[in-house]
Amino acid sequence: LKSLFVSTVSHDLKTPLTSIKIIAELMQQKKDLPAAWLKEYAELIEGETDRLTRLINNVLNFSKIERGIKDYNFSTIYLNDIVRNTLRIMKYQLKSQNVTVKMSLLENEEPVQGDADALTEVIINLISNAVKYSLERREIHIATWIEKGEAALSVQDFGIGIPAEKIESIFEPYYRVKSERAERVSGIGLGLSIVKHILDAHHCRIAVKSVVGEGSTFTLYFPLESNEEHSTP
Ligand code: ADP
Repeated sequence: LKSLFVSTVSHDLKTPLTSIKIIAELMQQKKDLPAAWLKEYAELIEGETDRLTRLINNVLNFSKIERGIKDYNFSTIYLNDIVRNTLRIMKYQLKSQNVTVKMSLLENEEPVQGDADALTEVIINLISNAVKYSLERREIHIATWIEKGEAALSVQDFGIGIPAEKIESIFEPYYRVKSERAERVSGIGLGLSIVKHILDAHHCRIAVKSVVGEGSTFTLYFPLESNEEHSTP
């Protein structure tokens, strides 16, 4: 497991590094590049460094979780803000992979208690997976709503889906679905275990609905701040 982990992480680090090096070489070789090309190269470098950062953040977060030292800074937050911020961070990745994002965000949403950075990591992982495991129809739907005293947020894709009997296991560290389509996608199997740890710290439930060949929806249910206040004696 350890050697598979090292080789996958190294492979996932090497791909963006190779792209950055190629771009740097191109920029040095060709003088007087048009401004539009320079902009595109700069965007590529930014996108590739974001990819590196995401991978390293996951490895660091997982190591903190394993050692029991991951801590959280809770404050009053709005889920729509987390969604918008995440999409801003992932703008380049989504654009370069031709992903269409459709949003249906609740107006006048109620706040929840949460760690904004940690929840951003959660949504980054869910959106990254939605993109990675959508081999043909590259479309993601993100929604927020209120349901039975909880604030809900869903990330839906129309990708390869997850077999029903595997859904429980996908939150275990290093677990990856073994299927021809899933194994074509690179990954280390840590993202969803980090997601689960962060959500547990938020007393947030996660529900997964998935149909193989049709897609998956991951829905998060947060206790509303207003309800928590009422339930405090
Ligand atoms: P990784 O993507 O690095 O393998 P994760 O912990 O994020 O690790 O996910 C665990 C496994 O769950 C993945 O390997 C994949 O098999 C499955 N999975 C997660 N999200 C999706 C999705 N949106 N569609 C299909 N399969 C998914």
